[in-house]
Amino acid sequence: MASGSAIRGVRIGSGPMRPIERGEPAPRRSVTYWCAGGHANPILLAADVPPPATWDCPRCGQPGGLDAANPPGPARPEPYKSHLAYVKERRSEADGEAILAEALAALRRRRGEV
Ligand SMILES: [Zn+2]
Repeated sequence: MASGSAIRGVRIGSGPMRPIERGEPAPRRSVTYWCAGGHANPILLAADVPPPATWDCPRCGQPGGLDAANPPGPARPEPYKSHLAYVKERRSEADGEAILAEALAALRRRRGEV
């Protein structure tokens, strides 16, 4: 019969013997991080690495710390600023006028207007 399926029904637990797992799993420990939103997030870490100082909360995204009574503040305390707002912090209005005049002069030179 050519129509026989090559894949036979296989149940979990049937089939060839699996190799016996050897060795102990790496030792781990649970470290709990607390965020400003009051979430407690236990994280499993390898026992031989020092826990990082902060761990972002998977529920609200704020950084969590190891001290439940004193969680770190929100990641971005500053309100969002536009690109233009940052430029205006660095440059004064007069700077802007000078840069604009310079750019216009260069443009006119290139066009052969001057
Ligand atoms: Zn949180």
